Amino acid sequence: MNYFEKKVKKTINLFNLINKKDKIAVAVSGGKDSLSTLFVLNKLGYNIQALFIDLGIKGNSDENLKRIKIFCKEKNIKLNVFDLKKETGLSLPTICKKISSKNNYTNCAICGIIKRYYLNKAAKELKVDKIATGHNLDDEFENIMLNIFSNNFEISLNLGPKSKEGLKKDFVQRIKPLYLCENYESEKYAKKNNLNIYPEICPLRVNAFRKQIRDFAKKIISIKKDAKLNLVINFNKKIIKFKKNHNDFKIKKCIKCNEPSRHELCKKCELFNLL
Ligand code: AMP
Ligand code: ZN
Repeated sequence: MNYFEKKVKKTINLFNLINKKDKIAVAVSGGKDSLSTLFVLNKLGYNIQALFIDLGIKGNSDENLKRIKIFCKEKNIKLNVFDLKKETGLSLPTICKKISSKNNYTNCAICGIIKRYYLNKAAKELKVDKIATGHNLDDEFENIMLNIFSNNFEISLNLGPKSKEGLKKDFVQRIKPLYLCENYESEKYAKKNNLNIYPEICPLRVNAFRKQIRDFAKKIISIKKDAKLNLVINFNKKIIKFKKNHNDFKIKKCIKCNEPSRHELCKKCELFNLL
């Protein structure tokens, strides 16, 4: 426990993720990483609240929410729930079903766009300074690999322990306190602290390529133990330079929803236009 907490503190200091006065929304899915993030930031005394996006996945969103509610009540943490179906009239499974027949977006890509959009919108309404997510070292390694193999370098500019500063008015800054923590470490931490994690994986998940990347990572690490950390750290050093040089698109307002967007129409509205 001590080791994990020290590592998170070190990550926060090293990358200057949190100032003591920051108000933070921890994006919780109910999984081991985001619940450990909530637990550890609470224990370290930061000013936190929880934010859950209820995607309306039957037998999954409800099970996670049930556990998150109990946890937050026990710890006296304010829980904010954003209900996708109430807000838009549609649950994620319905959106995925409607869109996948017309386009080749994967379920996970659709889910990612929706979560990013509503996390940002909800965080602005809550007037928090930052959104903390549970992304860990393994996630970061996989995302770097996935982006490179998919020729998606531009998207990699969103990686790293924190998103760009300076866009705060439009995009609430995202931070990853578990950036240096491995999968098995947050798993152990969650177990040690008896965090009640719903064990089933998301039924909408399609991760054939990610699974192969994960297996690939395992192979590399069996040969060179620190390869994962080295890749993530070195990649971050490189993208810091790119982030600085990268000419920001001018942030506009989406013509449909008025939320910030790099294009006329934001990604979420582009998706919903397909429905
Ligand atoms: P994922 O996109 O499922 O890999 O999750 C990455 C991170 O996004 C998690 O560690 C959480 O911090 C956050 N997250 C995922 N799902 C939700 C959700 N339904 N509500 C709020 N935050 C979420
Ligand atoms: Zn929009």
